[in-house]
Amino acid sequence: MSKVKIVFSVVFLLLLFSQCSTLNDGMIMTVKGPIKATEMGVSLTHEHVLVDFIGADSVNESRWDKSKVSEKAMPYLMAIKKLGCQTFVECTPEYIGRDPILLKSLSESTGLNIITNTGYYGAANDKYVPKHAYEESAEELASRWVDEWNNGIGSTGIKPGFIKIGVDSKTLSDIDRKLVIAAAKTHLKTGLVIASHTGPAIPAFEELEILKNEGVAPEAFIWVHAQGEKDLSNHIKAATMGAWIGLDGIGEDNCEDYVRMIKNLKENDLLNKVLLSHDAGWYDPAKENGGEFRGFTTLFEKLIPLLKAEGFTEKEIDQLMITNPAEAFSIRVRNIKK
Ligand SMILES: [Zn+2]
Repeated sequence: MSKVKIVFSVVFLLLLFSQCSTLNDGMIMTVKGPIKATEMGVSLTHEHVLVDFIGADSVNESRWDKSKVSEKAMPYLMAIKKLGCQTFVECTPEYIGRDPILLKSLSESTGLNIITNTGYYGAANDKYVPKHAYEESAEELASRWVDEWNNGIGSTGIKPGFIKIGVDSKTLSDIDRKLVIAAAKTHLKTGLVIASHTGPAIPAFEELEILKNEGVAPEAFIWVHAQGEKDLSNHIKAATMGAWIGLDGIGEDNCEDYVRMIKNLKENDLLNKVLLSHDAGWYDPAKENGGEFRGFTTLFEKLIPLLKAEGFTEKEIDQLMITNPAEAFSIRVRNIKK
């Protein structure tokens, strides 16, 4: 073979390899263990089975009966499975009702992949931030979260599949900043994506700035509740930087708003940065029989048909429901190369 031919073959193989890696050969961590990113399938990226609003100082697992929570959540999970959903990302952090054992048993009985998280929730006037988070450094908090990744949550052996934090909606407080720094440090050691309950653009860009200072790329950041930002040019700005835009409050009454937000991103060639979900559920231990449970089917039954009516192709729907979640939740360090 001539030298030129060899060079061409090498270039061709390299191209082929880079194509394969864009199809995502990554790994996802579910409550039952790792799966390939290609096995994640149609995914809901921000939902809840259980949320307990009692506060960080009083929350504990004796406040709910796992079998009652399961009984309540089960029909809603089976309903999405019937509609083709394969993976359910449970976004309830520790100190507000995270229950990995409950999620694992639901995953076993429904056949859905379920993903849980590590991290603390600093929104809602810091009611869900445990006391030690004020005393410890960001490094110390990160080492707790990294330990959950390395050794499992408590004694369950169940590992988190992403980092979930939350920040206040006006501007970041001191504790919010510490949580974001801890999340950045955890990301660099684990490759877990950071989903941060945020809302408006001001705190979102403050978070992206902190991540940048910590050497973490915007691709590692999911701007949760981005629908809370009314100036849609900020979605474009953050997605262009590389951040994930979580449009995750889909409900019966707001699908037209979501179509508008998704179309805006599509028109800017940024459909590959959008994550969709309902932020629905959940069993609330403070309420009689867990209170009213909001289901997870609107996206399938109402939003997707509306998007199709607006000219979205099957390929574009797959991008939103399959490709983007697999890319976002793949375990991979996304650092800023210096
Ligand atoms: Zn939520």
